[in-house]
Amino acid sequence: MAVVKAGAYGHGLDEIARALATEDLAFFGVANVREARQIRHAGVSTRIYLLGPTWSAERAEIVACGWTPCVSSIEEAREFNQLAAARGTRFKVHLAVDTGMGRGGFVEDGLSATMAALEGFEWLEIEGIGSHLPSADEDEPFTRRQMARFDAIIHDLGGSSRFRWRHLSNSAGILGYPNGACNLARPGLMLYGISPLPKFQQLLRNVMTLKSRITLLRDLPAGHGVSYGRAFVTSRPTRVATVGIGYGDGYPRQVSGQGAEVCIAGRRFPIIGRVTMDQMMVDVSASESVAEGDEVELFGPHLPVSEIADLAQTIVWEILTGITPRVMRCYHE
Ligand SMILES: *Cc1c(COP(=O)(O)O)cnc(C)c1O
Repeated sequence: MAVVKAGAYGHGLDEIARALATEDLAFFGVANVREARQIRHAGVSTRIYLLGPTWSAERAEIVACGWTPCVSSIEEAREFNQLAAARGTRFKVHLAVDTGMGRGGFVEDGLSATMAALEGFEWLEIEGIGSHLPSADEDEPFTRRQMARFDAIIHDLGGSSRFRWRHLSNSAGILGYPNGACNLARPGLMLYGISPLPKFQQLLRNVMTLKSRITLLRDLPAGHGVSYGRAFVTSRPTRVATVGIGYGDGYPRQVSGQGAEVCIAGRRFPIIGRVTMDQMMVDVSASESVAEGDEVELFGPHLPVSEIADLAQTIVWEILTGITPRVMRCYHE
């Protein structure tokens, strides 16, 4: 299951869905109905799985379109069953189990009774079982226990043959752990070339590069403030490149003053002063050859996005999904 929620992690849902549609995927994983519609409109026929819960007003469309939800409550299942009955077609759902995430799914206690109740809905087919890992990139002992619990749950509910699809792992789960009883996985971040576990990073290839250009190059004297709040003041004559990107593009303003760098022609230069909405300033005094119009890499092959995420005290997922529509997406085969 290729997870393409949040605009394929900021890469562009239509393009990524079309690029992956020719792969042998069981599902595209999306967060909600709006994303499911968008994939449909992109002309892709791969099955669509809804990773998050659905609410009542959305369910008729879900059944009509044949999207696959996970169910976390008997009420949801009952309504899906009624809608399927009204159409006279059986409808596939997955049983969501909460093995530690605390966000959705049935809790483990009483799961056999839950399963029996679900099997009582004659228009539903319990095609799969899924759960989610809250700390596969942070807590290995917990994750190993959680994986063993999930295997035990599948065993207790009738064994692997009972469910066509059994899925638990996100990227960190896939990279760092064995599969157990699962035959499906839900990679998100790693599809986009980033490993949540640094030791596996060399297995993956960079996908997104965020670039801008130097729009202006000036020489400022010593003692000159740079950007809002004048939080940075030049200590010497400084060659300052103004770059046409800012937090309005999703570049995190929080890195201001934290020592973040950009890459120009393979060399790194420090951002000085606060990142503004549309522009930022870079000290390029160390190079004679930098010129107006030069490409500036904000992150990509020469500057890992994880470095920016760390300086912004956030996670890579948030940086990628935060790149705004103003940034033109260019795709290369
Ligand atoms: C977002 C999500 C994933 C993908 O997680 P990554 O860490 O990006 O691989 C997998 N499963 C569920 C339920 C999700 O919500």
